[in-house]
Amino acid sequence: NPADTVRVRIVRVQRRFLAVFAEDLGEEQRVNAMRRDFIANVSHELKTPIAAIGLLSEAVLEAADEPEIVRGFAKKLKKESRRLGDLSRDIIQLSEAQSSLQPEDRESVSLRAVLRSEVEAHQDFAAQYGVELVLTESAATDNGELGDATVSGRPSAIGAVVANLLSNAIRHSPDGGRVGIGIEIGSRLTKQDCIITVTDQGEGIAPEHLPRIFERFYRVDAARSREGGGTGLGLSIARHTMRAHGGDIEVWSQEGVGSTFTLSFPLLEDGQSGRKRKKNKR
Ligand code: ADP
Repeated sequence: NPADTVRVRIVRVQRRFLAVFAEDLGEEQRVNAMRRDFIANVSHELKTPIAAIGLLSEAVLEAADEPEIVRGFAKKLKKESRRLGDLSRDIIQLSEAQSSLQPEDRESVSLRAVLRSEVEAHQDFAAQYGVELVLTESAATDNGELGDATVSGRPSAIGAVVANLLSNAIRHSPDGGRVGIGIEIGSRLTKQDCIITVTDQGEGIAPEHLPRIFERFYRVDAARSREGGGTGLGLSIARHTMRAHGGDIEVWSQEGVGSTFTLSFPLLEDGQSGRKRKKNKR
């Protein structure tokens, strides 16, 4: 009966529509829940230093006659206001990293130059921890020539990713430890044209934490991370930034041995990264 056939078809279409709709609803609810979580986390993280700054300022006013006590409070005030500054900087960086790169955001960025300048900028910090930073540059191209790995993107964002990896590696290193920074240009093995690695000899990350460290505000040891000045946003910013540049970030880690973070960037034949990547030519 043709009427039945039509009815069956309508029911099928309705089911399919409902299935798609339900999926969308699920996705929307998931996104909403994530947004709520994020806002709850942000307000919790902000409240702590804000409350501390309020109390400490009152304490400074009350202890005005006793310079030594005032000094102690002022030091704490400095630390809390710095925390607040770091948090607001990282929240802004995260929201920038989450939005896709616009043509006007793009500049030619020399990865070797960024890496050298970040390693240089972290020498004093490393020295404070008794850590040695060692930079190795290598080429995997046919002629072994070390070309200039250039990507198109935001130099400050790429610099911030490298800075975060260096600062994490240094902070997690033992005294007298060594942080190896490598840049390999033209890596065939990974099918990516530029690989940057940061390796430390720190305590490593347990397998159950490993998949979660890129989540916003996720820390293996929250108290220790806060003490060290971390906001818990660095790796999340790094992952978003790398993906916005067509690359990615990965981690290998073993407890008691150390961790290696790997950044991979696609480059173009002419040293530029982007969608118009020429295939099979190299
Ligand atoms: P944080 O501000 O806490 O450093 P990140 O997002 O940069 O935030 O890192 C998230 C967590 O991952 C850290 O709290 C730490 O527990 C862990 N982690 C990151 N880098 C390392 C490392 N090199 N060695 C051991 N643990 C690390």
